[in-house]
Amino acid sequence: MQLKDKVAYITGSASGIGKEIAIVYAREGAKIVIADLNKEAADATAAELKATGAQAIGVGVDVTNEDQVNASVEEAVKAFGGIDILVSNAGIQIVHPVEEFAFADWKKMLAIHLDGAFLTTKACLKHMYAQGRGGRVIYMGSVHSKEASLLKAPYVTAKHGLIGLAKTVAKEGAKHGVAANVICPGFVRTPLVEKQIPEQAKTLGITEDEVVKNVMLKETVDGEFTTTDDVAQVALLFAAFPTNALTGQSMVVSHGWFMQ
Ligand code: NAD
Repeated sequence: MQLKDKVAYITGSASGIGKEIAIVYAREGAKIVIADLNKEAADATAAELKATGAQAIGVGVDVTNEDQVNASVEEAVKAFGGIDILVSNAGIQIVHPVEEFAFADWKKMLAIHLDGAFLTTKACLKHMYAQGRGGRVIYMGSVHSKEASLLKAPYVTAKHGLIGLAKTVAKEGAKHGVAANVICPGFVRTPLVEKQIPEQAKTLGITEDEVVKNVMLKETVDGEFTTTDDVAQVALLFAAFPTNALTGQSMVVSHGWFMQ
């Protein structure tokens, strides 16, 4: 039980990577806050965790809305008495070439990935600092925090930006025992990626199979998707790491797609 009685607030955890992190953290003894735009799915995920004997609640939140973020963090604190771990994971994808990208879509992408990270960090740090028992802030970056791909201008921009935020939180949080990290996964077969396969096939004029083999997995060492469990194990490492030694670091989890 590496996270016994720690309270973890995980955004976008009603699906995909965030949900797997919630499952792994719950197995390690954490009390879980499933914070998601989809309140119904958040409640259902919390119920699944509770059925395994874990403590969990679902909260509805749009991470781009400051009032909703603050209210959901307060709800979590009221339910479980504090916040020890923030996983800022909620995200979406929109793909277009730069010259065709609608400004509204650009702003939406930056709002979810960057405003969401900032607002949840601000709300959770306040509690972590006041509690005086340290904390862990983990951002869901991407290989696109380090590398670019066609059609993903705002995603690549936002994911690079998270590394700057994590480094700043690492420096400011150190005196409070708060560490910050970024996880940078390769392609993981979640609903977010399933949606991109036909879209990229259409935009690039190739088959869906070619998108998977020649675009998504081309540079991996084994032609394998990164799994939600691959990512969740790294999220556990950062959450449970006992000292500040790893703070400010970002780790790529991509089956060799990107090596740094
Ligand atoms: P997903 O679509 O399976 O899950 C995303 C979740 O975020 C959903 O439950 C959705 O309801 C929630 N969400 C969306 N907008 C929100 C908002 N405004 N407020 C609160 N919740 C919101 O996606 P996923 O693949 O699990 O992605 C999770 C994170 O991992 C994202 O930040 C994504 O960029 C990142 N990531 C994914 C991959 C991949 O290949 N799937 C690779 C690298 C990084």
